[in-house]
Amino acid sequence: MTEPNHGIVLGGGWAGMLAAHVLARHLERVTVVERDVLPDGPRHRKGSPQGRHVHVLWSSGARIVDTLLPGLTGQLVDAGARRVGFHQDLVTLTSHGWQHRFPPRQFALMCTRPFLDWKVRDRVLATGRITVRQRAEILDLTGDARRVTGVRVRDMDRGVPRTLEAGLVVDASGRGSRLGHWLSALGLPPLEEDTVDAGIAYATRVYQAPPGAAAGFPAVNVAADHRLREPGRFGVVYPQEDGTWMVTLSCTRGAGLPTHDDDFLPYARTLRHPLVADLIALAEPLTSVAVSRVGANRRLYPERLDSWPEGLLVVGDALAAFNPIYGHGMSSAARAAAALDTELERSGVGDGTARRAQRAISAAVDDPWIMAASKDVEYVNCRINATDPRLTGGALARQRFSDLIADRSIRSPAVCDVVTDVISLTAPQSELASSRFLSLMRKDRVLPQLTAPPLTPDELALVRLNPRSTVGAGGS
Ligand SMILES: Cc1cc2nc3c(=O)[nH]c(=O)nc-3n(C[C@H](O)[C@H](O)[C@H](O)COP(=O)(O)OP(=O)(O)OC[C@H]3O[C@@H](n4cnc5c(N)ncnc54)[C@H](O)[C@@H]3O)c2cc1C
Repeated sequence: MTEPNHGIVLGGGWAGMLAAHVLARHLERVTVVERDVLPDGPRHRKGSPQGRHVHVLWSSGARIVDTLLPGLTGQLVDAGARRVGFHQDLVTLTSHGWQHRFPPRQFALMCTRPFLDWKVRDRVLATGRITVRQRAEILDLTGDARRVTGVRVRDMDRGVPRTLEAGLVVDASGRGSRLGHWLSALGLPPLEEDTVDAGIAYATRVYQAPPGAAAGFPAVNVAADHRLREPGRFGVVYPQEDGTWMVTLSCTRGAGLPTHDDDFLPYARTLRHPLVADLIALAEPLTSVAVSRVGANRRLYPERLDSWPEGLLVVGDALAAFNPIYGHGMSSAARAAAALDTELERSGVGDGTARRAQRAISAAVDDPWIMAASKDVEYVNCRINATDPRLTGGALARQRFSDLIADRSIRSPAVCDVVTDVISLTAPQSELASSRFLSLMRKDRVLPQLTAPPLTPDELALVRLNPRSTVGAGGS
């Protein structure tokens, strides 16, 4: 290793930029290797196809990003991103019925992904200590099974391969990472991997929201009911920074998906409640349907290898990717960046750093992993190839308990607070098994079940909806 104070990050997406920022706090220089040209504005790019679909950044992730890049959340909101208070600013039909709009406990930022990525990238690169090698493709890692010393990259315009040396290489190349292949070329055994694949697919269109509605109308979410034991259909209408609504319809395996513009509205009508369809029937579509079929939960276990090479880390979707419906991918990558920062702060880059940091990073993805995977195994047609003992055995009892929590959370404010802390990744999942929470489940007041979406007359007027049109079938 000739460049111990150089860090290389493979991939310049969300996880890559946060990891590069953290490395730049501890190393002299950092290089990001990225296949795309990174746009200098809020524009789509080939390497981030998920950017055409709704993205929410949970409060836990936003807080970490704010710690790393002070004031960023405020900048995003000032530039138009919606700070949606859960559950005051959201109207949700959960599997168990309509959620009461309790005062906000947590929030999620809603804005387009290209806008979010651009704002974060802009701040990260402004420090001047990070070089981005664009249109550069990762070929393989250099070094051996004991220590990774760098990476071989190919300049995509000139076709010339080149070796970059570093003290630390971070794989942040996303779901398509070839880490397994690279490790095997270094003589390492295969990584253990779990997958839980409910066959999630997304179809998205952008609409011009009615005047005032992007800011004054709540976000809308209509979910499937897994208890019906049939393929699930979901729909959301989320406000974006530019006065538009992003509408995503999604499904689990077997429920089909609208791939043509003409099928979009009819499909929305097949959701458990017509609210999403009624809203988009009134709005002007601005884009055609974009489809994504990338939604399996997949997790690698690098921490289980007997010997993990010095100088190598894996973060973001390359390490663990989740069903996007839970909105945990970006917050999970932010948790990994925070864990890396803590480890580098504690011990700098030296022998054992990579193994310790990787353990901490892998621990940071455990809650989002088990939350998404244990929920998805409940959907019919879910394909499971997992060693995680929490996903096998005792499934029925676990499902009954999570159904009980879901039923109480929509109607009991204190229970809802704890559940919202957990699903926003602010509190650990273990909180749901604490005696405090179990006591709340017994004692918290329970409001009546809502029979229609909890929209105020002013909100209904904003989108010109008749109160009667919001009383749909299947809402309870
Ligand atoms: C449809 C959909 C909706 C989602 N919604 C949400 C949401 O609401 N909230 C949320 O938190 N998360 C959501 N996610 C997850 C979120 O998009 C990911 O968790 C996040 O983008 C992961 O970031 P990453 O940097 O690990 O990977 P990516 O964003 O995929 O970035 C990987 C980067 O590596 C580059 N790259 C790949 N291979 C190479 C190579 N060989 N050489 C050079 N460069 C390479 C790519 O060009 C890309 O820039 C969603 C995902 C999907 C698919």
